[in-house]
Amino acid sequence: MRRSLFLMAMIGIAVLIAVVIADRPGEVQFTWQGYVIETSVGILLLIVAALMGVAALTYRFWRGMINAPGTLLRARSGSRRESGYRALTNGMVAVAAGDPDAARRFAKKADSLLDDPPLTMLLSAQAAQLTGDEQAATRYFEAMLERRETEFLGLRGLINQAMKRDDRVGALSLVDRARSLRPNTPWVHAAAFDLEVRQRKWGEALTSLASAVKSGAIDAATGRRHKAAILIERSREAEAAGDGAAAMEHAHKATGLMPGFTPAVVREVRLLARAGKAKQAIRLLEKAWSQKPHPSLAEMFLEAAPADETALDRVQRLDRLHRLNPDSPELLPVLAEASLAAELWGSARGHLMKALRESPSRRIYRLLSELELGEHDDAVKARNWLAKAEGAPEDPSWVCGSCGTAHALWAALCRHCGGFDTLEWRASAAPQLAAPASKGPTPIALAPPPAPGRQ
Ligand SMILES: [Zn+2]
Repeated sequence: MRRSLFLMAMIGIAVLIAVVIADRPGEVQFTWQGYVIETSVGILLLIVAALMGVAALTYRFWRGMINAPGTLLRARSGSRRESGYRALTNGMVAVAAGDPDAARRFAKKADSLLDDPPLTMLLSAQAAQLTGDEQAATRYFEAMLERRETEFLGLRGLINQAMKRDDRVGALSLVDRARSLRPNTPWVHAAAFDLEVRQRKWGEALTSLASAVKSGAIDAATGRRHKAAILIERSREAEAAGDGAAAMEHAHKATGLMPGFTPAVVREVRLLARAGKAKQAIRLLEKAWSQKPHPSLAEMFLEAAPADETALDRVQRLDRLHRLNPDSPELLPVLAEASLAAELWGSARGHLMKALRESPSRRIYRLLSELELGEHDDAVKARNWLAKAEGAPEDPSWVCGSCGTAHALWAALCRHCGGFDTLEWRASAAPQLAAPASKGPTPIALAPPPAPGRQ
């Protein structure tokens, strides 16, 4: 549009000049080297215009010649970049496919073709990791820390490396740096939390957990359970340090957060009992039992016995607990054991037969063997029951979901693999780890009676 306007204006001016000249005709004459040239002003102007046109064309051609190498070079560097990007893509595909040789080859090619270290450093690092050269990968990751645009990615690579060689202290300081660099990235909070709990830094872990839940790295329900687990550990540590009030506060918070979480209830009940608040302890136990029966709660109930309790008193006390949740099989072995102690053979047999139908386990067969000896002094039948115990399902306990190690007592950290909040109440084939030796008050061993799939 602008071009055609310009052209029309130019034509207009040319026509105007032609008209002016035609209106004022004149002769031009000049002498040069003995030649006399005569012409009209119109022709002279035409010749001048033609000469200017030729000069303009010559200039354009000359410019073109001068710039040719640069244009060629630009075309070449364009294809260089293109090959570089192709090598980069192929390299990333090779990394994803787990082909170390191709990954390294393409990384080298991309690096030589593209003058863009942020793009190629990550590929080079990943290619080095694929070939098992962790030292080279570390060098690339560290080089990435030097540039703002790759610093975070380099940190992530170094964190993964530190975790792999189990350097948790080093990993945590790198995670802290990553977190201050990009506080809105969800994984930094989850990673910080994971490292802090494994180092038993409960206070810091609670802060990281809150950020991890807020950013969506950990879902709210898991976050609540993790928090209760931390509070139980804090309560234990406070009690061991002689701070009974803090121990109680943490335990109470844990049960408030997760009323159905047996380890939390057990902790608070135990502290209440130790503080001489037996009535409160029993009330909490019975409430928890009616909501969610668990063998550990039954054991706690037995522990809370008055000093002068007879075997018969005990059966009556357990009957009260049984009536709160009559359909749950958790109490059957406990009831049977108490009945055996009180020599109430009929009721013991009733409970054991019911348990045999609903949830048979080694403990039930062993108790049946005791019953045959106690009631009829029948060694043959007793041996038969014991033989069956060998093939029976294992009694449940706190089993680590990561490594499968069974624990006699619940703990926030697996004592074998160090996993956090991994213990679940179930049967395990692995041998059970005994309760840890404690410097604080002696932990009351919770022998786990049978109750498959509950906690
Ligand atoms: Zn474990």
